[in-house]
Amino acid sequence: MKKIQMVDLQSQYYKIKADVDNAMLAVMNSAAFINGPEVKSFQNELEQYLDVKHVIPCANGTDALQIALMALDLKEGDEVITADFTFAATVEVIHLLKLKSVLVDVDYDTFTIDTEKLKAAITPRTKAIIPVHLFGQCANMEEVLKIAKQHNLHVIEDNAQAIGADFTFSDSTVKKSGTMGTIGTTSFFPSKNLGCYGDGGALFTNDDELAHKIRGIANHGMYERYYHDEVGVNSRLDSLQATVLRKKLPLLDTYNEARRKAADFYDEAFANQPGILIPKRADYTSHVFHQYTLRILDGKRNELQAFLTEKEIPAMIYYPVALRKQKAYFQESNDEDFKNTDRLLNEVISLPMHTELDEEQQKYITDAVLEFLGNSQQ
Ligand SMILES: *Cc1c(COP(=O)(O)O)cnc(C)c1O
Repeated sequence: MKKIQMVDLQSQYYKIKADVDNAMLAVMNSAAFINGPEVKSFQNELEQYLDVKHVIPCANGTDALQIALMALDLKEGDEVITADFTFAATVEVIHLLKLKSVLVDVDYDTFTIDTEKLKAAITPRTKAIIPVHLFGQCANMEEVLKIAKQHNLHVIEDNAQAIGADFTFSDSTVKKSGTMGTIGTTSFFPSKNLGCYGDGGALFTNDDELAHKIRGIANHGMYERYYHDEVGVNSRLDSLQATVLRKKLPLLDTYNEARRKAADFYDEAFANQPGILIPKRADYTSHVFHQYTLRILDGKRNELQAFLTEKEIPAMIYYPVALRKQKAYFQESNDEDFKNTDRLLNEVISLPMHTELDEEQQKYITDAVLEFLGNSQQ
């Protein structure tokens, strides 16, 4: 059996190696390393795929979030609401810009922001909401957008983990994740569902004015060459990364389907087993399984992780600490308001999930988990 990895980028690369290698060599021969035609073509192709008016490529997913907030003209101390259970980049940029993060609990079943608690967290200083499409499915965007409209708030979708997912509104309209809010952001970090071979990111918006502003901010606040209208940043996607992404974008749906198939295999093995909860698939969103995350009940999670490690099965805890308890972002809070997050920190475990898992590996993994559960029932 092939050694099991959390993410197997090498096997995925080998399947498209000739094509990618040739395209990368062509870029090197052209020497158009920055802002070359490959970047523009990728931008256009992603706009088409997402059915969004503007894609603005940038250097990584964290920059994308920062640039999105910078484009909204917020003032020091303005409040931005996001989930307490996500990757730290989401709150990091809020603090970096001297805005105030307001963290709220997530839903226990979907791992995404609890919209009732979101409502309760709104104050006159609230200016924006950052729903995170965690682990591969969309937050409840219909509710989030309704709340945002009522209170006149911007919505930045952190779509680093769910590119390619579809959200279905109650009127049957279907939209791609990241294209529903004021701005969507994503990351092309190698292990994301659409990953390049280094760092990369992008912002999405349907607003022409905002797109113009975002392009300027990502380019030193420059709208006319060497005239700087505001303080910006330098955040670019380079041509080599764009080339890789152009080869992988046409495969994204196939990649997401492979992930879904692997998730189906896991689901089938674990459904109705006592002591374990499979990830819920919400009816308003498709799931592209950036992670396959189980909840292990009865305080057995760490024991299971150790058991799997012994069998050379990697498994990760995303995420072990609530953001409100991190040293950098510590805020006084009433734990009663964060029951789901605090429970998930102790229950979640993510199994190997990527496009190259084979059935032999998956059988080995599911057998190991079931063996652990069987032993721990006795
Ligand atoms: C990966 C990730 C980011 C940051 O992306 P980088 O490209 O690594 O900067 C932001 N938010 C979430 C939810 C992520 O998973």
